[in-house]
Amino acid sequence: MVHTDAGVTALFVRARPIGPVPAGAAARAGAVLAATLVVTGCAAGTTQAADGVGLAVPEPRTTAVAPQKAGPPSPVPSPVPSPVPSEVVGPVGDRAAGPAAGLDLTKHSASDPASPWVVVNKRTPLDPIDYEPELTVVRGYLVRPDAAPDLTALLDAADADGVHLTLRSAYRAYPKQAAVYDGWVARLGDEQADAVSARPGHSEHQTGIAVDVGSSTRPECDFEGCFVATVEGRWVAEHAVEHGFLVRYAPGNSTVTGYGPESWHLRWVGRELAAHLRDTGRTTLEEVFDVPGGGYAR
Ligand SMILES: [Zn+2]
Repeated sequence: MVHTDAGVTALFVRARPIGPVPAGAAARAGAVLAATLVVTGCAAGTTQAADGVGLAVPEPRTTAVAPQKAGPPSPVPSPVPSPVPSEVVGPVGDRAAGPAAGLDLTKHSASDPASPWVVVNKRTPLDPIDYEPELTVVRGYLVRPDAAPDLTALLDAADADGVHLTLRSAYRAYPKQAAVYDGWVARLGDEQADAVSARPGHSEHQTGIAVDVGSSTRPECDFEGCFVATVEGRWVAEHAVEHGFLVRYAPGNSTVTGYGPESWHLRWVGRELAAHLRDTGRTTLEEVFDVPGGGYAR
């Protein structure tokens, strides 16, 4: 299981350069999906350490096309951070911000996994839980086709500003997440597994419209709290919304999202909703769409 081994190694070795998906990979999407690497990682396996810095494992890309056996990973037992407080937190906002917001919040579904506005979190899994999107490739990573134009525009705009974002993670398939999560459960038990790995069906990465970006100037900060202070992290914080992306897990909204701050995790929602969030001062989809958040219900 090259992926899990590599993922665990990355816990200590840090990120290594990742090659693009080879030409033709999109056409082999089904096979690639089966082999898409999912270790612990942003939103799929990130938790919040006591210092508020997420512990996540960069996931190496794969070029394999053969279906992988779903063997358990080799979890590294320590250090295991404390989980994000698992209290159940209900939505704190109104569903409709009123006519002044200027956006029809029923325009797209918040529950259809194929919607640009789908809300998935620890309380609200994807339905169907093993949802598989159509996929295309952007700079070597698998994403849903409707998110691809804005993602490309985001990356191109950064380049134009002399800021070179890297993509570190995008789509993750349900079977791989399930295998990885089950491996952690076997090793650590349910509670600690939840602290280091998302349950399958609960990761935004399974939608194909969430990506993790990295720093070309300080790659050691990829998937780390210090990403927010990198030139790339600062650029994303300022400009992601212009291209339809939300920095989903922000300081101060952990009890709603269920995840600690992840300044590298970008969720595509489209430019209209991104602007709506900015203009209304909201930071979470849970608040906008009145969807429960917080920790797992169990
Ligand atoms: Zn992520």
